[in-house]
Amino acid sequence: MSNVIIAETKDGTIHPGTAELVTAAGALGGSIIIVVAAGDDSSAAAAAEISGVERVIALVGDCFATYDASSWASAIDSVSPAGNLLLSASADGKDLGARLAARRSISVVQNVIAIEDGNVTYPVYSGKAHETAALSGDAVITVRANTFAPAPGGGQADIGIVNQSADVATAVREMLAKASERLDVAEANIIISGGRGMGSPDNFSQLEEIADVLGAAVGASRAAVDTWEEIPHSMQVGQTGKTVNPSLYIAVGISGAIQHLAGMRTSKYIVAINKDPEAPIFKHADYGIVATWEEVLPTLKSELQSLLA
Ligand SMILES: Cc1cc2nc3c(=O)[nH]c(=O)nc-3n(C[C@H](O)[C@H](O)[C@H](O)COP(=O)(O)OP(=O)(O)OC[C@H]3O[C@@H](n4cnc5c(N)ncnc54)[C@H](O)[C@@H]3O)c2cc1C
Repeated sequence: MSNVIIAETKDGTIHPGTAELVTAAGALGGSIIIVVAAGDDSSAAAAAEISGVERVIALVGDCFATYDASSWASAIDSVSPAGNLLLSASADGKDLGARLAARRSISVVQNVIAIEDGNVTYPVYSGKAHETAALSGDAVITVRANTFAPAPGGGQADIGIVNQSADVATAVREMLAKASERLDVAEANIIISGGRGMGSPDNFSQLEEIADVLGAAVGASRAAVDTWEEIPHSMQVGQTGKTVNPSLYIAVGISGAIQHLAGMRTSKYIVAINKDPEAPIFKHADYGIVATWEEVLPTLKSELQSLLA
């Protein structure tokens, strides 16, 4: 059986999560092939170095410089051998995965967090429960970030280069970079998020200062996003925002409503700072501080600065 990993690429490099997908594919058993769709073949070399990979197929063409759903799905489908298709459970990965499943008339399982004995496990009911399904036949599997350990380097897979430019009907020519250079919550390993309890959007600068010390992303609750237009929806964590899975999630002035928990409850460690001891977030936090953020954040920042100096 083949497991075909569709690597995510950004600015010509493969996403580090590709090594996590290799571990996930290893749990399914069978050979592992990586398909890298990129402007040129430079990122294929990085994929070939991941241990356990048998072969890399580099899809080369101008149209692969930026993600375009229909052209990528058609090109990737045409070069990928039969087998399971594994992608990251990012917005693009889920989009592409669903299209590939439809093209091949195979099942799609999104947001997988564990694979064992041919069974895949994924969260349901906004993360309140996990469901395990048995795979019968090939499937598209999207894997949530930070749930599988990355496979080590040291591999020497063969690379085959396929030029697909001529077969693609439409392509995105340019993607404008967003103004903020700050790390996106969906990709961050540490997140500090603010809620309505921050009182004003200006106070998010306090979170940004701590994020700078920790190398973290700054997130927000929906109440913060809805209340203040300065806080963009791209920062929102939760059921109608982004699902995140960092090692550390610090919730500041966030009550812990079920819809917020849906997006962050699988974080490895949750720290809550809230002035209300009855706030629901404390039921899910590994560490809780009952105090106002005005009291806590300055001390937290200076302690972290001296710890990490
Ligand atoms: C269909 C649907 C989808 C939704 N999707 C999402 C979603 O994706 N993400 C999301 O977050 N929400 C979502 N919500 C909204 C959700 O139900 C909550 O309303 C929201 O999460 C509350 O945000 P909050 O905790 O920031 O605000 P609040 O509930 O107002 O809580 C503010 C908290 O701050 C604390 N606080 C106040 N002042 C201070 C201070 N000085 N220092 C420390 N703590 C302080 C308070 O004690 C309180 O616990 C959704 C709701 C619905 C119906």
